[in-house]
This record gives sequence, C-alpha cells and structure tokens, in this order.
Amino acid sequence: MANRELILLALDQSPTLSLMERALRAAGHDVTIVRHQAALENVLAESSPSLLLLGETFDATDGIELGRRQLERFPTLPILLFAEKETLPTIRSALKAGLSGVLTAPLKTDDIVQAVDRALKRASNLGDWLRREVRRTTASLESRTQISESERGRLETIIAGIEDGVIVLDPAENLGLMNRAAREIFGLQETDVAGRALEVVLAQTDLPALLASPSNRATRLFELNLEDGRVFKAQHTPIPQIGSAVTLHDITEIKRLEKAKGDFVHTVAHDLRSPLTAVLGYAELVEHAGSLNDNQHDFVNRIQTSVKSITGLVNELLEFGRLESTTDTRRENVQLESVLKDSVALFEPLILQKKLQMQLETGTGLPPVRANPVRMRQLMDNLVSNAIKYSPDGGEVQLSLRCDNHQLIFQVKDSGPGIPQEDQAHIFERFYRARNVDGTQGSGLGLTIVKSIADSYNGRVWVESAEGLGSTFFVVLPAQETSSA
Ligand code: ADP
Repeated sequence: MANRELILLALDQSPTLSLMERALRAAGHDVTIVRHQAALENVLAESSPSLLLLGETFDATDGIELGRRQLERFPTLPILLFAEKETLPTIRSALKAGLSGVLTAPLKTDDIVQAVDRALKRASNLGDWLRREVRRTTASLESRTQISESERGRLETIIAGIEDGVIVLDPAENLGLMNRAAREIFGLQETDVAGRALEVVLAQTDLPALLASPSNRATRLFELNLEDGRVFKAQHTPIPQIGSAVTLHDITEIKRLEKAKGDFVHTVAHDLRSPLTAVLGYAELVEHAGSLNDNQHDFVNRIQTSVKSITGLVNELLEFGRLESTTDTRRENVQLESVLKDSVALFEPLILQKKLQMQLETGTGLPPVRANPVRMRQLMDNLVSNAIKYSPDGGEVQLSLRCDNHQLIFQVKDSGPGIPQEDQAHIFERFYRARNVDGTQGSGLGLTIVKSIADSYNGRVWVESAEGLGSTFFVVLPAQETSSA
C-alpha cells in the first residue's frame, strides 16, 4: 500500500496474532496491538485506526458484540473478525452486526494482507463517496443561501428605488418596511422605523384611521389628503403570512388639473344658464305675441324642447361640478325606503305617460344609512329616471331595497334595450353615452353622479345587463349600526 495505515489488532495472545502483526507490518502498515477492552476504546478514540481486526472472543467478551458496539460509535470503521472456524452462523452474525468480513484459520500471510487491503479499499471508496456527497450538499446549500441573499438584496434595492411610497405592515399593523419615498412623503427623518406601530409613527396623518375603517374588500383604494395640500392614491392590499402592504401614488397634479377642468366647465355652464333662460322665456312669449301658423307653432315647440334639453344638461353639469368641488359634510340617518318612494312619486306623470308597470319592493325595518339625504335622493332619481327613460312604452321597472350583511342593497331592474358588454365598463365615466341610446336624450352624467355619491359613502355601484334583456343596476351602501337594529 502506498499510504501507511494504522491497523488495530484486538486479539487474545496467540500465534495467529503474531502472524498477523508480521504480515501487516511487512505489507507496509502500522500495527497497534491492544490486550484488553479499555485499551481498545482508548486507541479507537485517540489514534483513529484505519481498520480493526477483532478476535472471535477478546478479553473474555464476544467479538461480534464488541464489534457491533464499536460501530455504533465509529460507523465508518472497517472491522474484520478472526474466527478459528468458518461457520455459517458466525459469518451471518458478523455481517448482521455490520462487520466488514470474517477471516478464518488456517491463515496465510497473503490471506491476511489481501483481506485487510480489500476492507481498507472498500472503506476508502465509501469515505470518498461520503466526502463528495458532503461537499456537493454543502456547495448546493451555500449557493441556495447566496441566491436568496442576493435576491433579497435585489428586492430591497428595487423597493428602495420605487418612486411610489411602499409601506409593509405586519398583522398587528406594526411597520415592517417603509421605503425612502414613503418616508419622504411623511417627512420622516429616521430611517429605521421597523417594528414600530403605524398609528404612532404616522399619528399626524389620516392613514391609520383609513386603514382601520371596516371593509369586506381585499384590496382597498383611498385618497389620502395631507395637510400641505398633497393628495395620494393609497392602495391597501393584504399579503398572506406577512400582513399587508400600502402603496402611495402622488395624484396632486391630476387633482389640480381635474379641478381646473371642473372650474372651467362650471364657469361655462353657469354663464350659459342666463341666456338659455332668456331664449326659453322669449320662445314661450312668441306664442302669446300673436297667432302663429302651424309651421311657426311647430318650430317654436322644437326650440322650446331643445332649449329645455340644453338647460337640463347645463343643470347636471353645474350639479356635478358642485359634487366634485365641495366636501359634503352633512350626515344624517337616512331611511332609504322613504327617499325611494318620494323619488318614484316625482316620476309618476312619466310612468303613467309611458304606461309602465312599476314594482316597488322594500324590506321592513331596514337600517338607515349615514348620509346626506339630498345626495341619496340624487342617486335614486338618476337610476329611477334612467330605468323609466330607457324602458319602452308598456315596459316593466322593478325597484327593490333590502339589507344583507350590514349593507343596504338598492336594485333597479328595467326592461329596456340593455347595455352592450363593451360599453358597460365606461357608462360610469363622465359624458359617456353607450351606443344603445338610439335617440333617447341625455348628458352622460347621471351615472357619473351616482358613482361619485356611492363612492363618497364607501359604497359600490355596478350594472348587470345584456343587449335585449334589460339592465339591473345595483348600489350597495354600508348600513348605519343602530343600537335598536
Ligand atoms: P344619460 O344622460 O345618457 O342617460 P347616464 O350617465 O345616466 O347618462 O348613463 C350613461 C349611459 O349608460 C347612457 O347614455 C346609456 O347608454 C347607458 N344607460 C344608463 N342607464 C341605462 C338603462 N337603464 N338602460 C340602458 N342603458 C342605460
């Protein structure tokens, strides 16, 4: 053998022991002989021999049992058993105990050396394999750790560089992360805010209260108004196993432009109202100024209809402008069923004129909504008037109001033309009129007003419709919890 290996001989004194010692030394191995178990334990622990050659009995102990015990401590140590006789039970027990092989008398020098070298080779192959496996596993673990660390680094750089504010909260609303942009938005000097409560760090802002407001929606959108006039669109999204994240996008400029546009529309609408009133007044006076022939009478009627329609548009524009520009702080407990009845009463003449079948279904003991009653009436008037306006003569309109899961649900179903699928996503936008209107007069502002009102009370509005099958509009508003309810 090229490498000198230490072979430990644990055999009782015998000619075989001497033969083994000589043969192994001659083959280039180092040999240590132990005479009792205590010495065996010592040498095994301190000298790490490459192989143990054990007698069938050693120091009055069964060699196989002794070998089994040593393998519990040194599982990779090759152990050969020397037995006086080759019997099947001995070989089977030795292998079962995990020994590497059995040598039996009579022995020749070559038998000893070959058996020892074979066992050493097998052990060295096993050792190589084990070492390779350990290296491979370690390398792969290291690379995985490196990947996750480099990915974390990359993520942190990305989040830090995002122009929008990003805040990550744990389930108890403590800050986990706040990127540079978020800290700048709130003018925070400190960089390490992790672990601190949001309501403490951002106590001067509306954000903690906005996030605390109850909602049954997963992702929520808010407008966050700061004292210095800046406005942010805040999106709050739950993240399973982490908590939630808030992103803040600066919409101050958009808001400024919207206001400028609103102001312009308001001014134009306002300035148009007086001349329109004058035109309508004079058109009515013409009929009293003298007799008109049929043609003249028809023309004057047409002028009056058109001016009324433009006046309606101008009034809606002014109303919408008012809705957008003022902060509506009036809040009362409003019983929607009585608002709805008043609204239907307003349209009674039209309902009769179009011979519509009107069905009104309201649950009993409905809780109120906390709102401005004028806005609630506007919302209902717009939806009811649309249902009447777009229904054909003799059609059917069903109105219902119910409470479900602390929410009031107002439903308006008509037998009108239905709204094409592609238009449905746009009908709540200002001035949008779907291609189904077919001569029906309108401004495209009614549903924008409805949505604006619903949004301002944390409500929702949507439509379910199909062409030729009518439309159903839904408005959901949070019910006001009353102690008696
Ligand atoms: P308009 O003054 O045009 O009715 P709205 O904002 O109230 O404006 O509605 C926007 C568009 O949505 C309408 O132009 C029409 O195309 C469609 N729409 C609204 N309500 C109904 C309805 N009940 N049935 C069919 N289409 C409707």
